[in-house]
Amino acid sequence: MHPKTLITGFPRIGQNRELKKGLEKYWNGKITENELQQIAKELRKKHWLFQKDAGIDLISSNDFSLYDHMLDTIVMLNAIPERFIHIKDMTEKYFAMARGTQDAPAMEMTKWFNTNYHFIVPELHDGMKFRLDASKIVSEYREAKDLGIKTKINIVGPLTFLGLSKTKSRSNPNDFFEDVFEIYKQLVAMLAALDDCIYLQIDEPIFAKDPTPRQLSLLRRAYEELGAVSDNIRIIVTTYFEHSCEATEILAQTPIWGLGLDFVYGPKNLSNLGVLNGKTLVAGIVDGRNVWINDFEASLQLLDDITEKIDPGQIVISTSCSLLHTPYSVAGEPESSIKKWMAFSREKILEVVVLGEAFHSKQTLRTVSSLIEENTNRLKERTTSDLFNNKDVAERVSNIRKTVREGTFGERSVLQKRAFDLPSFPTTTIGSFPQTAELRTLRRNFKRGEVSAAEYETTIQNYIDESVSFQEEIGLDVLVHGEPERNDMVEYFGEMLEGFHFTTNGWVQSYGSRCVKPPIIYGDVSRPEPMTVKWITYAQSKTKKIMKGMLTGPVTILNWSFVRTDIPRSEVSRQIAVALSDEVNDLQEAGIKIIQVDEAAFKEGYPLRKANIPEYERWAVESFKLAVSVARMETQIHTHMCYSEFNDIIQTIERMDADVITIETARSGNELLNIFHEMGYENEIGPGVYDIHSPRVPSVEEFERQITTRLEVIPRSKIWINPDCGLKTRKWEEVKPALKNMVCATQNIRNN
Ligand code: GLN
Ligand code: ZN
Repeated sequence: MHPKTLITGFPRIGQNRELKKGLEKYWNGKITENELQQIAKELRKKHWLFQKDAGIDLISSNDFSLYDHMLDTIVMLNAIPERFIHIKDMTEKYFAMARGTQDAPAMEMTKWFNTNYHFIVPELHDGMKFRLDASKIVSEYREAKDLGIKTKINIVGPLTFLGLSKTKSRSNPNDFFEDVFEIYKQLVAMLAALDDCIYLQIDEPIFAKDPTPRQLSLLRRAYEELGAVSDNIRIIVTTYFEHSCEATEILAQTPIWGLGLDFVYGPKNLSNLGVLNGKTLVAGIVDGRNVWINDFEASLQLLDDITEKIDPGQIVISTSCSLLHTPYSVAGEPESSIKKWMAFSREKILEVVVLGEAFHSKQTLRTVSSLIEENTNRLKERTTSDLFNNKDVAERVSNIRKTVREGTFGERSVLQKRAFDLPSFPTTTIGSFPQTAELRTLRRNFKRGEVSAAEYETTIQNYIDESVSFQEEIGLDVLVHGEPERNDMVEYFGEMLEGFHFTTNGWVQSYGSRCVKPPIIYGDVSRPEPMTVKWITYAQSKTKKIMKGMLTGPVTILNWSFVRTDIPRSEVSRQIAVALSDEVNDLQEAGIKIIQVDEAAFKEGYPLRKANIPEYERWAVESFKLAVSVARMETQIHTHMCYSEFNDIIQTIERMDADVITIETARSGNELLNIFHEMGYENEIGPGVYDIHSPRVPSVEEFERQITTRLEVIPRSKIWINPDCGLKTRKWEEVKPALKNMVCATQNIRNN
């Protein structure tokens, strides 16, 4: 029987973050490896049985991972970096690669395409002894079979593996193709002998980015050969997050069984389905990376469009990508006004089943038709509900005239220099100071109502007092209040803005055992009242020096949230920007002279396809500028970005036109900073000189070296001296001496 429905992959962390808790207990020596494996096994069982009972035809195995699926692939290929090879025990080796040991630093982690999931970056080098280890794949397959489920096996494809790897010993990771591909061939041959009719989903999301000719030719080679290994294997090559039209053209000519395509984030996939003749199409139509219910009518319409090119019998309904990027279940949420419009992983599975039924059955069951009708009504209700739509916001946002601030940088700079009278090489920090355990407890208890507002205020004020006197003591030039009232730079603002919802249990895996609970932007965004003014002005009242106001920028708030899909992202971003502009205005009216608008996640929102970048850059820059458009010429606007790679985006950064930008360079040094110099970047720059990711306290001499090196590329009149990022994850014992040394080094250089 031809399958009707399939789930690309299921989240691993568990309804109540059982995996996270298990991992942490195991790492702390509180449970044994066996006990950890037992927890993992229970989770897999629960997740499989749920999908089975829901009526999904093809359920995945090997979508589970104790830490990360790329790390699993590294193990599958035995692509173990040299520094871990001596570790005998496999589990110990596995976690050592992920987390590092005393003498071997952890492998690097980076973002999985444009999601917030981080994977372990493979390090390939000459002399690596690639060897097949399919034990995990086989044992999970058997485990499911024992439960009566014949799974589809998921693996990361060879081109995606290579495309996401790094190497020092050859010029390009694709140079390792022959070595790696050999193992994939062995794997497929081995799986062909495992059982009859094996479904194998090979993920190749790398083709959702603009592929190179070399990648495409390797793709052809890979699937011509893998597809020919055995008739007993049905290979489904799956891409997601964008269209992969170039790959489709090629894969259509190889002997694979099917293609999995994302029609939610890659509508362009529709355009060349004609080439697919005879192959199965796994149609990703239920959004795997958002939290909203599916629009059944629209999905069925889309399926109709697809049937113009593909025989309905050849279509399998699926999620757009693995549900890894969506929380577990809406059932875990308390009642709320928006709950009925939300669908998390478990609900999305039911949606796939309903769509499968509605599309594939000749006579759609009555229950299904009533579900569809109910869905249509619910969505209609959303379009008209005041909950989601605020006329005042819509009106204000569309009538905004002043979208950029007055004056050129040159003009503003003259006024600011005169007004501030700062020394050369002004010193500052990025905003947060250490978040102590007491602070966390205080905020939690205040939220629960266990601490009175008065007590809360005084304790926060005391923290600010101490931070201010410390900064004055060591002689920093521009001070911060330290952000003691903030749990998280996005959550803090989201909680004060209208249009945001916070879940109770909406956890999504970020990496390993780490989960995040992104805010949900469901409605029009507005700011009922000032959000930061009280704390910043309090801090300013404690010092004669300049106190820097601290806000999170519109693009970062957007990129770190789940966003409504009924209006464009650019529109949501604009609404946030308008709300923030009111805050900028209030701060400036209250006498705050410098305001920093953090855009830590600016780069994260970049589209995967080059063709879409200009559009993103246009509205992202526009939003940032709109947020600060009300700043007077003499109000100085800073922005902060947590990275060092600006080569591709330098012109965009220029267009944002912040008076000062602070960035991360303590580790990468001048190499990446050069671009600012080469482009003749006009505005001021604060290249990080203190690596805040390490507990180490740099000496005065080390800071002097850092600063002198930076001066080779940044003119003296334009440089600020500051750490790489906020200090909230560090301890006061480290921060105090480090900042003291930073200021001391700056003074030494100033005096020279
Ligand atoms: N102002 C924030 C802080 O210092 C910025 C953090 C960030 O960019 N990630 O914590
Ligand atoms: Zn940062």
